[in-house]
Amino acid sequence: MDWRFDNSYARDLPGTYVVQKPEPVPAPTLVKLNTALAAELGLDPAALLPDAAALFSGNALPEGAEPIAQAYAGHQFGGFSPQLGDGRALLLGEVIDIHGQRRDIALKGSGRTPFSRRGDGRAALGPVLREYLMGEAMAALGVPTSRALAAVATGARVQRERGLPGAVLTRVAASHLRIGTFEFFAARGDRAMVQRLADYAMARHYPDLPQGEGRYLAFFDAVTRAQARLIAQWMGLGFIHGVMNTDNMTISGETIDYGPCAFMEAYSPGTVFSSIDHQGRYAYGNQPLILGWNLARLAETLVPLFDADEARAIDLANERLGAIAGIYRAEWVQVMRAKLGLDGAQEGDADLAEGFVAALSGTDWTLGFRRLARATAPADLRGLFKDMAALEAWWPQWQARRALDAPARMQAANPAYIPRNARVEEALAAAEAGDLAPFERLLSVLADPYTDRPGLEAYALPAPESFNDSFRTFCGT
Ligand code: AMP
Ligand code: MG
Repeated sequence: MDWRFDNSYARDLPGTYVVQKPEPVPAPTLVKLNTALAAELGLDPAALLPDAAALFSGNALPEGAEPIAQAYAGHQFGGFSPQLGDGRALLLGEVIDIHGQRRDIALKGSGRTPFSRRGDGRAALGPVLREYLMGEAMAALGVPTSRALAAVATGARVQRERGLPGAVLTRVAASHLRIGTFEFFAARGDRAMVQRLADYAMARHYPDLPQGEGRYLAFFDAVTRAQARLIAQWMGLGFIHGVMNTDNMTISGETIDYGPCAFMEAYSPGTVFSSIDHQGRYAYGNQPLILGWNLARLAETLVPLFDADEARAIDLANERLGAIAGIYRAEWVQVMRAKLGLDGAQEGDADLAEGFVAALSGTDWTLGFRRLARATAPADLRGLFKDMAALEAWWPQWQARRALDAPARMQAANPAYIPRNARVEEALAAAEAGDLAPFERLLSVLADPYTDRPGLEAYALPAPESFNDSFRTFCGT
């Protein structure tokens, strides 16, 4: 089959990657093929099927693929690692989809590369299916995200705390350019390569930006807007990424690297699920601050491009960094307007949103918004809200401000179904034991998150508090 690869990264950016073949796996079997996404990529799902296990395990390469491991660095939990890179992933190349969008096709778990350090280059089936599920759920929720094209079991075991079935994920993304890609070259003093990367990223992700003087500032502003909008969407959904290291933050503004991520149930700003986030650096309520911290790392790599005069370049960068909190805030208020069914923008909307969020303390984040849509009085929410007094005090301002068609607007902005932790764990445990039915069913529930459907009530409910209190997520590496 003709994939019509057009590999601009490999062609335009020599010196930013190493050419590397996937390591063969012993007995690949197809676990899941995303036929809708395949069709979006211009591939015929039926024609793919016979070779799917071989292709999506890396045992065979599609025609036109030029596999490479990309170099990148990154700040991990605040500390700088000058060399990370694709240690278990390979970019096969890029395909122009049926909408004319250029998309990366990459394997994850495809074997060792020069960037593997002490890792085995592999991935386990549970984390692969977790990334599959989370990415598809986010896409259906309307959040920019990488997608999963396929999951293949390798037939080999991977050794983690215990032996686990191995798997390979095929990931589709707008690109895999990260803040960490820029940091890799900036840390080596390779200003020319930073500039080449910026030119490439602009042409690929922000083609409408003005050319000429000031274009790198415009580029930085565009990345800021995209990432601020993304984090505002995460916050609206109660999504906790879990590892907002600079190597996991894309230049395109898409969510990537679903490792220890999870959706919050009872609202508390300090919520953390990741077993390695001991200090709560990437807690729910910290994500907007980390957005600014990460963008500061990107700005540092771009300073030499902002202005030939260094002092002036630094001033320009600082001006930008000072504006990020306000840019994020505006995006967050916009998300909240939709969630609360407000029409237009008014002074006081931010306070109204803050008021509701405060009243949600301890209450299931997703159900709190979803049930508010159909409530006609605070009493309708008794039993759900922990702080009825706060809700009652807030109610009259909202009544006065909300749009006439608020219920319909709110149904479309507040999901009934999210990947709830207990459901995800249950689906992955069954899959590991060879039963894919719960995974398939959860995937189908999450494909249409804004429409209540009879028979799916249990998927809309939080786990018992005791579950979430002790629930921990792992990077799965
Ligand atoms: P992540 O936590 O998945 O974002 O990965 C951080 C870094 O560790 C990246 O450079 C990965 O390529 C690398 N890495 C993670 N797991 C493995 C593994 N099993 N083998 C080799 N490299 C890995
Ligand atoms: Mg990563």
